[in-house]
Amino acid sequence: MDMQVSFLDRLFEAGLLIDTGVEGLYGRSGQFEDVIAAFERLIDRFGGADGAEAIRFPPGMNRAYFEKSGYMKSFPQLAGTVHSFCGCELDHVSLMKCMDEGGDWTGEQKATDIVLTPAACYPLYPTVAKRGRLPAEGGLYDLQSYCFRHEPSTDPARQQLFRMREYVCMGTQDHVTDFRQRWMDRGVQMMDAVGLTVEIDVANDPFFGRAGRMLANNQRDQNLKFELLIPVTSAAKPTACMSFNYHQDAFGTKWGLELEDGSTAHTACVGFGLERIALALFAHHGLDVKDWPAHVRKALWG
Ligand code: ATP
Ligand code: ZN
Repeated sequence: MDMQVSFLDRLFEAGLLIDTGVEGLYGRSGQFEDVIAAFERLIDRFGGADGAEAIRFPPGMNRAYFEKSGYMKSFPQLAGTVHSFCGCELDHVSLMKCMDEGGDWTGEQKATDIVLTPAACYPLYPTVAKRGRLPAEGGLYDLQSYCFRHEPSTDPARQQLFRMREYVCMGTQDHVTDFRQRWMDRGVQMMDAVGLTVEIDVANDPFFGRAGRMLANNQRDQNLKFELLIPVTSAAKPTACMSFNYHQDAFGTKWGLELEDGSTAHTACVGFGLERIALALFAHHGLDVKDWPAHVRKALWG
């Protein structure tokens, strides 16, 4: 814990992250962003030749899609919804009065059609399903989005609004599990190129509640999720900087994703936690990129 607070303080002092008064909600300096941009170009160098279709969604998604995704069943504690004032002038008067009196003015806010995107791939599945059957070679998509998760923390690697770069693959079981394995190998190579030591381990999502514990155990037993871990604030508890997820045909069934022959698509996604990777680089190589080892600078900036 102390390590996390002191690293966060050092990031604030160096101006790399900017305190907003809310845990896990930070501004980023130009230098911090430059590291993320450089790392994204490295991702492009490894993945660019695969011919993925690039799509960028905003950090909010259609609430109806979100509801259908089942996110509230598995991760209600992390979700963020967008609410707005939808009243008349009279309602506005009572809103102002309530705010002046320091009351809870948020109770009257109404849910809009938008929720905050919880993972970059969530808006993709319904989008692809709407297009009809996938082509014979399957589907490959390159995504990047700010994501929201309500998990306030003093660990700078656990933010509430952070960016995820993702590749998502749709096809047969063999096709998507090969894709996942390829990115596990590439992830290790990429981190090696920027001087970070990693380990890959089986993992689970933070499913809610007692029923969730069973889902988490099942996910582990079936090797559905792996994480690439890098020490950021603790050597004993390294931070998940990438994840490699095989969804079997769960999203294919939920969204009606079909292959050319009409069978249900299997899907897999690999996610890069961009802030976490930048933080791992700053933690390992120092807070000033000018002092980073030459081979790391070369891998990032050429
Ligand atoms: P964790 O186990 O650390 O909570 P997760 O398993 O929920 O992470 P995923 O859902 O797999 O994470 O998200 C993909 C990637 O996004 C993670 O590997 C990580 O790098 C990044 N990420 C997830 N949550 C956060 C967060 N709160 N702040 C910053 N990055 C995050
Ligand atoms: Zn995903």
